[in-house]
Amino acid sequence: MNTPPSSSFSPADMPLEQARAFIAARLKPLAGSESVALRHACGRVLAEDVVSPIDTPAHDNSAMDGYAFAGALLGDAETTLRIVGTALAGRPFAVPVAAGECVRIMTGAVMPEGCDTVIAQEHVKHATPEAITIGTGSVRPGDNRRRRGEDIACGSIALRAGHLLHPADLGLLASLGIATAAVKPRLRVACFSTGDELRAPGQPLEPGCIYDSNRYVLVALLERLGCDVIDLGALRDDPVALEAALREAIAQADAVITSGGAAAGDADHTAKVMSRLGEVAFWKMAVRPGRPFAFGRIPAQGRDVWLFGLPGNPVAAMVSFCFLVRPALLQLAGMQTVEPLVIPAIAGHAIRKKAGRSEFQRGIVGRNAHGALQVRLSGAQGSGVLRSMADANCIVVLAQDRENVAAGETVDVVLLDCIT
Ligand code: AMP
Ligand code: MG
Repeated sequence: MNTPPSSSFSPADMPLEQARAFIAARLKPLAGSESVALRHACGRVLAEDVVSPIDTPAHDNSAMDGYAFAGALLGDAETTLRIVGTALAGRPFAVPVAAGECVRIMTGAVMPEGCDTVIAQEHVKHATPEAITIGTGSVRPGDNRRRRGEDIACGSIALRAGHLLHPADLGLLASLGIATAAVKPRLRVACFSTGDELRAPGQPLEPGCIYDSNRYVLVALLERLGCDVIDLGALRDDPVALEAALREAIAQADAVITSGGAAAGDADHTAKVMSRLGEVAFWKMAVRPGRPFAFGRIPAQGRDVWLFGLPGNPVAAMVSFCFLVRPALLQLAGMQTVEPLVIPAIAGHAIRKKAGRSEFQRGIVGRNAHGALQVRLSGAQGSGVLRSMADANCIVVLAQDRENVAAGETVDVVLLDCIT
């Protein structure tokens, strides 16, 4: 997987979409599945389609508190019905209901035999403990009846393989009486930073050194993605230590994410060590921020370990993760949908943009005075400026061929909540 030939594109200028497609075409989702209790299934990816074992609802039932009766007897005149009993949720009224009769019924209660219509109690014209009178036109036959199987029919697919389980899905599965879910294995992802200048927060900062911030961002992003994270720390630019760390990472993980030293021919050694262990493509991405990026496949005991080498600059590392690595990890995790939702917003001011590269700019999106979505940049856009990233709630994604944006033009925005 050396850098693809320059006939298809210039390796000095790898378009974002092409890099994504290159990566997506090579990844293979993790095999296997495990069964987990519903309570532990949130955030996991379904390994199999879930077929409903029952109809939901399981019976025709009432959508309202009111009175159930046979709708066929509604005519042009007022209708008076004798109340013959009560149906409660979990306590059906078991006697057939005849013409001219009705049953007091509560929401969720099974429709009594002979009834197909419910009038809400507040729509009844007159009610006594013995009878009700229904005015003309206040209810139509079949109203307020939920049909058996109308949400999900027995035997139909309730959720598809590759679906990421959200809280509502757990409710859906529980409503079908399903107590466990077959889910994909969690991705194991190893992560380390590289650079002689890196110091850990809490340590003194020697002259010329900086704190390792990338690992905190990346480990948090990986944990929020539901990965099992193996944090291998910050490594010196020492080929022996780097090779040892990479080998350790490969032995344990499905994917390895590094930051720093990703440029081939860099003074750093990460790239050189990576290319010794497997097939690695080193790209100069046509992206800002985030130019150097490495993607590789390293064979390890009959399986493939995927390598993602991120640039060192903090914002470059983060957006490269969000737009290149995240979709790849979701694909490895077996997810069907890996692309984030892109929403249009009005540029609240002019945005400088060079054609020939994709740009990810940090922004704050909200409603303007007219109620429309409007975005403004959150501050200085340098690739090391975390302040404006921390202040942002979205990334403005400007496609490669786009030029300067004038105030009032529409731009694509991805909410950080969707990708972090
Ligand atoms: P590199 O890609 O290794 O050339 O690094 C580019 C820039 O990012 C340099 O200024 C590094 O000091 C900085 N950098 C690299 N790794 C980190 C890190 N883990 N945390 C914060 N800054 C970093
Ligand atoms: Mg470095």
